[in-house]
Amino acid sequence: METESKSKREVAREVAREVMPSKILSDSNLKVPVKRPLKVKSLCEVCHARKAVMRRPKNFSSLCKECFYQAFETEIHNTIVGNKLFYSGESVAIGASGGKDSTVLAYIMKILNERYNYGLNLVLLSIDEGIKGYRDDSLATVKRNQQQYEMPLEIVSYKDLYSWSMDEIVASSGIRSSCTYCGVLRRQALDRGAAKLGINHVVTGHNADDVAETVLMNLLRGDTARLENSTAIMTSSSGSPIKRSKPFKYTYQKEIVLYAHYKKLDYFSTECTYAPEAFRGTARQLLKNLEAVRPSCIIDIIHSGENFKLKEKRKRETLQYKKNCRNVQQIKEGNNKNIDNPIEVRSDGSVSIFKGEKKSANGFVDGNRCEKCGYLSSNKICKACILLQGLEHNRAKVLIDTDTSVDGAAVLTKTLEKLTF
Ligand code: SF4
Ligand code: ZN
Repeated sequence: METESKSKREVAREVAREVMPSKILSDSNLKVPVKRPLKVKSLCEVCHARKAVMRRPKNFSSLCKECFYQAFETEIHNTIVGNKLFYSGESVAIGASGGKDSTVLAYIMKILNERYNYGLNLVLLSIDEGIKGYRDDSLATVKRNQQQYEMPLEIVSYKDLYSWSMDEIVASSGIRSSCTYCGVLRRQALDRGAAKLGINHVVTGHNADDVAETVLMNLLRGDTARLENSTAIMTSSSGSPIKRSKPFKYTYQKEIVLYAHYKKLDYFSTECTYAPEAFRGTARQLLKNLEAVRPSCIIDIIHSGENFKLKEKRKRETLQYKKNCRNVQQIKEGNNKNIDNPIEVRSDGSVSIFKGEKKSANGFVDGNRCEKCGYLSSNKICKACILLQGLEHNRAKVLIDTDTSVDGAAVLTKTLEKLTF
């Protein structure tokens, strides 16, 4: 089932890149075969019958392949059951990108569903961002996975939903903000794709490294509001009926790569053409360095994040722009009666509108529909439409200006860029 286009050398490089400490890799200049990650000569610590072929990156136990599969799969099953992620008869969409995480997720969900009788109806849901040379190839992998795992596949594209592909967005607004746009649009696209299928639960391949990275990133930025929620295994956002969960929350990326490699799963390993968010890359490197010294640090960071509690929940009003808040002065004066639907961008990245007399305890209510696209949104105009509006208005560049005379969408776009999604 191995991808025809992927040579053995490329696969070996990728496994080495994930499993070897970065220093050894840089010393060997990625020549394959590189030094074997670890020399294991003993018998498997679990079955004591077969020869151990690996040391688990998570805890260094020496295991044979069969016992590694068993441990890997059972731990994910325990995460699913322990957190009551699913109920019998539930329809679940698997966010499938063709990459290793989502490919292993689809494979694991299928075998666990059958082995433990979860009773789930599984569907693959893919987003076509419109990135030539990247997404078109990875979608071909997802289509093969569809055949291999015998699951229905739904593909929703940015172009169809928003009339913009990522290539067009980058051509218009530059590469710097590509992941910001992409993240906002993908979130809604996944929701819409799931809603189209009548499904309200999407599972994603976010793994322990991703969660630890997010904790580190929020810690380094002092974003305590997000830090508090960054380890949640299941999330649902205001204005959306779709919940999301991460069955791989405690699963190490290295183990996912090893599992995919040993099982010879068919996945796509090329990076996106557009650079991933710069600061996340820094946090990733930091985490890799820490992990090389102390492998348990990934789980330890998640554990710390899980136990982090904000003393006092503060909602930071980051923006009230002219178009949607004509009555800023009234707010300052405490006269809220005639306020005309101002927008608040919360510190956790969600957005709400103020409804005057109908306000909830914090003054904002959810459950509205976007005035532009009609999709469920917790604000007057959904985040995707706000960004697209910004693109339309500012084809070439995003304005950076505090002058209230500039177009509101541009200012809000700039503010959203500073947030992480
Ligand atoms: Fe989108 Fe950025 Fe990921 Fe590329 S790297 S798919 S632009 S979020
Ligand atoms: Zn064994």
